[in-house]
Amino acid sequence: MASENKRDYYEVLGVDKNASPDEIKKAYRKLAMKYHPDQNPGDKSAEEKFKEVNEAYEILSDADKKSRYDQFGFAGVDPNYGAGGGGGFDGFSGFGGFGDIFSDLFGGGFGGGFGGSQANAPRQGENVSAQVTITFEEAAKGCQKEINISRIENCRTCGGSGAKEGTQPETCPVCHGTGTVRTTRQTAFGTFAQQSACTKCGGKGKIIQDPCPTCRGKGKVRVNKKITVKIPAGIDNGQAVRARGEGNMGANGGPSGDAIVSVVVKPHEIFERDGANVLCEMPITFAQAALGAEIEVPTLDGKVRYRVPEGTQSGTTFRFKGKGMPYVGYKNRGDQLVTVIVEVPTRLTREQKELLKKFDEAAEGANSKKKTFAEKMKKLFEQ
Ligand SMILES: [Zn+2]
Ligand SMILES: [Zn+2]
Repeated sequence: MASENKRDYYEVLGVDKNASPDEIKKAYRKLAMKYHPDQNPGDKSAEEKFKEVNEAYEILSDADKKSRYDQFGFAGVDPNYGAGGGGGFDGFSGFGGFGDIFSDLFGGGFGGGFGGSQANAPRQGENVSAQVTITFEEAAKGCQKEINISRIENCRTCGGSGAKEGTQPETCPVCHGTGTVRTTRQTAFGTFAQQSACTKCGGKGKIIQDPCPTCRGKGKVRVNKKITVKIPAGIDNGQAVRARGEGNMGANGGPSGDAIVSVVVKPHEIFERDGANVLCEMPITFAQAALGAEIEVPTLDGKVRYRVPEGTQSGTTFRFKGKGMPYVGYKNRGDQLVTVIVEVPTRLTREQKELLKKFDEAAEGANSKKKTFAEKMKKLFEQ
């Protein structure tokens, strides 16, 4: 999994686990500016650092993701990397989702003092998170799942205006709908202009006299929604898929956020997974191992016949190329590794026991390992 050699997000930002949102933001700002591609043209390692820093900030700046990261580590938030061009599926690999952070950080002015000038600018909605449980087979083949999410949407009663039916929000008389006010100050050194959010309308530019009873003037409501998510073939337990535009509604006409759906894959009765390889243990009898036998092996594609060679030892692993899990976004697949376990029979009848004793006497010399060991042991006690 991609997360194995990832650095801890707190370590990436160089902050303490108990750091406040403000400290996290400050640390991010400093690093984002240091590694920003504009500052380091053509520098691959700076670019990597920049991505790492952004990813850490995306998680740690979101209270919900942060708490899941604190509890479950990368598995709690691990997006599905390397998704490439998997049809319709969109992993975290693209950095499109960072627009909100940048408009906040870079567009809003570095000093922090001019934040008010952007009060009614379009903003993207927040992401919402959800979880879905699928079977091992569904993970292998890919699937579509209906899931329930809770998100913020436009209020239907008022159409998002926040005003009671039949009324309209009024344009703020103080800022004339811009949401910002400009004050100028005459000093001995000249005229200084300052912009800040309008206090009359709270930066919205509009004033609601009769609020809509459904949303109490907010223009938005929280709703439970069923959405369908596409889960790509090869997804592993703990990874997540992103359903674009299924998150909270944006503000001031900004785009909606995304739904980040983490995937839980139920354990399988026979198969286990190691990356893209599928592992399975298969019991065979002593006679099958000794004489060789044709056996039927279960794979994700159905049963496959396999010839176990004569003299196969317990614990031997056979590889079935291309019978494992698909790599997400690609056609090729891992392998299936079948380990045969020779079963020593229990609860033998008296007759079976007699036969086995006879067999053992007759097999003198056939057990080469036992013979070599006996010789070594003899030597050991001769000294
Ligand atoms: Zn409403
Ligand atoms: Zn105003």
